[in-house]
Amino acid sequence: MTRFNTQLVHGLPVDDNNTGAVNPPIYNSTTYAFERVDAMPRYDYARSGNPTRDFLERQIAQLEHGDRGFAFASGLAAIHAVLSIFKPGDRIVVGKNIYGGTYSLFHEYFADRGLVFTPVNTHDAQALENAVAAQPDRNIPAAKAVYFEVLTNPLLDVNDVRLIANIAHRYGAIAVVDNTFVTPYLQRPLDLGADVVIHSATKYLAGHSDVNAGLVVTLSKEIGNAIYFAQNRFGGVLAPTECDAVRRGIQTLALRMDRQQANAKSIAQYLLAHPLVKTVNYPGLPGRERELAAKGLRGAGGVLSFEVVPGVDPADVLNNLHIFHLAVSLGAVESLAELPCRMTHFELPREERLKVGITDELVRLAVGIEDAADLIEDLGQAFDIAYECYLQRHGGEDVFGKIAEGVFA
Ligand SMILES: *Cc1c(COP(=O)(O)O)cnc(C)c1O
Repeated sequence: MTRFNTQLVHGLPVDDNNTGAVNPPIYNSTTYAFERVDAMPRYDYARSGNPTRDFLERQIAQLEHGDRGFAFASGLAAIHAVLSIFKPGDRIVVGKNIYGGTYSLFHEYFADRGLVFTPVNTHDAQALENAVAAQPDRNIPAAKAVYFEVLTNPLLDVNDVRLIANIAHRYGAIAVVDNTFVTPYLQRPLDLGADVVIHSATKYLAGHSDVNAGLVVTLSKEIGNAIYFAQNRFGGVLAPTECDAVRRGIQTLALRMDRQQANAKSIAQYLLAHPLVKTVNYPGLPGRERELAAKGLRGAGGVLSFEVVPGVDPADVLNNLHIFHLAVSLGAVESLAELPCRMTHFELPREERLKVGITDELVRLAVGIEDAADLIEDLGQAFDIAYECYLQRHGGEDVFGKIAEGVFA
């Protein structure tokens, strides 16, 4: 068996071309000829199956150590397909701080169709256990699934897949993991006991901010068949050209992620030492290696967040960045910066946001593969401007004593 990096590059070749092309072909055919009327061809119609999509689906299944893979037109289409396998009355325990679009899909769509969602802090094993277990006295059945993300967004808490899957299984529930922020390069949740893995392949897997895509990987035949039904009947399939774009992105996943992590670590250390920064959230900071390893992670990825000190306006930092794009999304080659309270998490009521720790001062960075020194200089000059703005608002009073210290020289 080949190793991970080789698998990234080669996938599982489909031996169906005699041209010698080293890349799998993009099949833009929606229909496929039958040899005879009673033939049962492997492909008949593109919604049901397409060789280019097959390549990507086999590739992600291989990388995640699963049985079957499924490619969808977006991460949310993938999540919709997974949730569709449940029935009215089924209860799903959901980690707090999940992706906003997922939260909205659950509460504004599936809840109206009879699914019951129980939010829980997945770091609290006892609370999780209580949430998953049946409560016969209150007529509450055991949960059918626990749904969570490995790294929470934007605070980067690390969920323990093994622990959560264990608790789910104890009560007959399955564990569904959104592995978008982590990728199979840093962790394969199915190896740790999860039953279903989901990706917004829009992010790290495609990696270039140029394709919307979602992937699902399953282990059991039963769940695999149910996801295939949803893919084929809802029809939210990924188009062949997009499948190829994701395949191509996956080839460089490890290289990109290595650089993104190295850059994120340098930036996190720079931010920790910066006088205008109050807190830094990045599980890849030195000293946290043990925690990561204990939870089965080989790295912390390229997303981090930080809070500026009170009085400094984070918008003054963000509006003055030149290399970081002021943009949502993550996982691509270019660095992005955003203000969660205004740009990604504005749908959460402010009190809810504050309760989970997403303050008005919190900035999220999705670090790319540029030179770390350029990214740090970019942040540095933006902090300088933000401090000038602060001084102007406060009549020049240098409360931090920074000018005297020459911090901003
Ligand atoms: C972006 C994202 C999604 C949604 O994926 P789309 O491709 O935008 O539909 C789901 N989960 C996480 C963690 C994400 O970051």
